[in-house]
Amino acid sequence: SAPRTQQSSVALRIRPLNDTELEEGATAIAHKVGDQMAVLMDPGEDPEDTLRAHRSREKAFIFDTVFDQHASQEDVYRATTQQLVEGVISGYNATVFAYGPSGAGKTHTMLGTDTEPGIYLRTLADLFQAIEESRDGADCRVSMSYLEIYNEVIRDLLNPASGFLELREDSRGSIQIAGITEVSTSHAQEIMQLLTKGTRQRTQEPTATHPTSSRSHAVLQVTVRQRRRGTDLAEEVHVGRLFLVDLAGSERASQTQNQGKRMKEGAHINRSLLALGNCINALSEKGSSRTQYVNFRDSKLTRLLKDALGGNSRTVMIAHISPASTSFEESRTTLLYAYRAKNI
Ligand code: ADP
Ligand code: MG
Repeated sequence: SAPRTQQSSVALRIRPLNDTELEEGATAIAHKVGDQMAVLMDPGEDPEDTLRAHRSREKAFIFDTVFDQHASQEDVYRATTQQLVEGVISGYNATVFAYGPSGAGKTHTMLGTDTEPGIYLRTLADLFQAIEESRDGADCRVSMSYLEIYNEVIRDLLNPASGFLELREDSRGSIQIAGITEVSTSHAQEIMQLLTKGTRQRTQEPTATHPTSSRSHAVLQVTVRQRRRGTDLAEEVHVGRLFLVDLAGSERASQTQNQGKRMKEGAHINRSLLALGNCINALSEKGSSRTQYVNFRDSKLTRLLKDALGGNSRTVMIAHISPASTSFEESRTTLLYAYRAKNI
């Protein structure tokens, strides 16, 4: 197969300071510098401490793209996801992850609002348009499923009453979710309604630091099946899959002082995010000989994404942070995680 340019990329999005942060007297400590650099300043315990002030309190992180409060939904979509659409029509798999602590802007980037739709809708709209414009468009079928993984259990967000769903491997070794709802509609308003309603069905629980924290990974799975005539006129079906993932809040169990149920969820979330980071990191190793052992079995999330994380596929991670001084520790750990996942 043809060499592909870049297997994985990592972007950072810094959202605007919000009213609550401003009321708390928070200042912005995370800034974009140029197109690829973010600088995080340690607010320190005591701003009057002159000794500290003389030390370097700024850390710089390089990413493939950095967005700040001025970036529009369109800007973010274009720089991260738009180029994946063509590949998926050609039968490649791709994944886009929104990573970061609760309240940092993941759902805003992926789902967005009716007036400011995010990556979900923009991707589907571009897919439908590209297929319509292609000559053999009539032979293409696009469908979508929307699910959540909560405590290592899969639920259908388009039909939450259906209970727990199982992952299965078909005869060709590709991963399927038994009994999941598959919807085929190119109507933008209908898609947005389905996904907004599905997102409201996600498992949300208050944690010590966030009153509404998404404790599950939400996965929009877009499948493109294309019938083609091979050289011998035999019909072939090419399947391209795109996963758009709004990850569970990455705040640590230890930071949120969670106990009991929250703690168990936190352990599952930490484990799956760690497994994911390890997979992306292993896949983006320099030289990419793919000899490094990638353990997809480590979590449901990485099992589901096995086909889309390995082989000839592309991965985009969009890390999210608040710029607020009150979120310093969360922002620091997020930047370190995202930086580690980056293809150096
Ligand atoms: P998360 O999904 O990471 O928990 P949300 O996407 O729900 O966070 O964002 C939290 C709040 O901040 C929401 O009210 C959202 O509309 C707002 N927000 C997030 N990112 C942006 C942005 N880039 N511009 C404007 N508002 C934003
Ligand atoms: Mg969210």
